[in-house]
Amino acid sequence: MAIIDCCSQPGLRPYLDAKNDMLSRLEAIAATDIIPLEQALNHILAEAVSSPIDVPSFANSAMDGYALRAEDLVEGQGLQLVGTSLAGHPFGGRVGPGECVRIMTGAALPLGADSVVMQENCRSEHNVVYPCGPVKTGQHVRLPAEDLAQGEVVFDAGTRINARVLSVLASLGLEQICVRRPLTLALLSTGDELKNPGELLAPGDIYDSNRIGVRAMLERLGIRVLDYGILADDPELIREHFLKAAREADALITSGGVSVGDADYTKQVLEEVGRIGFWKLAIKPGKPFAFGHIGNCAFFGLPGNPVSAAVTFHLLVRPALARLAGERLAPTPLLQARALMPFRKSPGRMDFQRGIVSTQPDGSLGVVAAGSQSSAVYSAMAEANCLLHLEQDRGNVAEGELVTLELIDGLYW
Ligand code: AMP
Ligand code: MG
Repeated sequence: MAIIDCCSQPGLRPYLDAKNDMLSRLEAIAATDIIPLEQALNHILAEAVSSPIDVPSFANSAMDGYALRAEDLVEGQGLQLVGTSLAGHPFGGRVGPGECVRIMTGAALPLGADSVVMQENCRSEHNVVYPCGPVKTGQHVRLPAEDLAQGEVVFDAGTRINARVLSVLASLGLEQICVRRPLTLALLSTGDELKNPGELLAPGDIYDSNRIGVRAMLERLGIRVLDYGILADDPELIREHFLKAAREADALITSGGVSVGDADYTKQVLEEVGRIGFWKLAIKPGKPFAFGHIGNCAFFGLPGNPVSAAVTFHLLVRPALARLAGERLAPTPLLQARALMPFRKSPGRMDFQRGIVSTQPDGSLGVVAAGSQSSAVYSAMAEANCLLHLEQDRGNVAEGELVTLELIDGLYW
């Protein structure tokens, strides 16, 4: 098998270079499913969706009040109330000169009427309504197709169906929707020291947190997870599971064993059964990261260190999964905030330090470190609400300097 030549070049690989290289080697799965709209949350649209109808499909009122003809209004003169239009129960007649109709929010604007006056701005006596103040023609009327016009493309292929997208699809009356088949991912941890929750720790053991955390992220992304559990540092066992993943899954994510220690077999096994690029990335945390294929199954080898695993998942695996799933990912919004304390940094690697950003009394953004920046301290990751993007060539950050960051709360992790 060919070995992807990724770290023969001297020095570490810049993040964007590695990411773009990886994305260029991945293709979206082609399979699609037609599913009921009600099951579509978190799926990816396989095709663009055009509106089958105008939304709204009829002119209607934006207020509770009276529908009338703006041109009829004369200061001090009343309009004859001739009927009522309720949501779902339109007024059957026509509003003639000098007439008005009681109307509720969302109810159809009667024929003849062109404007609505809020009930708070009207006085009514014995079926005669006196609007006060000026009335602009068309006021408080929602026009047909004001939201979406029939035939208009509402969502592009590759859109992730979140609750807001789902509501819009529902407003179009669509019963079924064509989506990409969700990805199936195999997941495993390697390490003789790893134990499952509830097990007793022998000396030198730790609990496996990466697999549990990554599984949660995958599930939040709508991905089906085949959890292979914890594997001992045993090349035979690792090989067997890598081949199993190639049969069962679109991609395999492993954690651990990608450094160059004595019990790091991931590289060796992948060289035997697949194509593998071991990357020493110019990022911190997360220097070692493996990417490749076993047959058609994409392979992502996360570092064992929990902070590194989470950060490389976010920076590299998340965009890769979007590519595989046919999802269009919008560029991450980056914010500028003022460092409220110094941050230690050496030039050479892009540093994704964990931070807590907040709005300061003057309205600007300020950021402090979320606890220890050691990549072995995972609790700081949970405390953080942002990742700083400290540029590769940058050195120490002094208090008061501007830094770039991305928000991480409310995403998938
Ligand atoms: P490795 O990449 O296997 O050399 O592991 C690097 C560090 O991460 C070691 O301290 C491991 O004990 C730790 N580690 C590896 N896998 C996990 C895991 N699944 N959960 C938590 N820590 C891990
Ligand atoms: Mg290990």
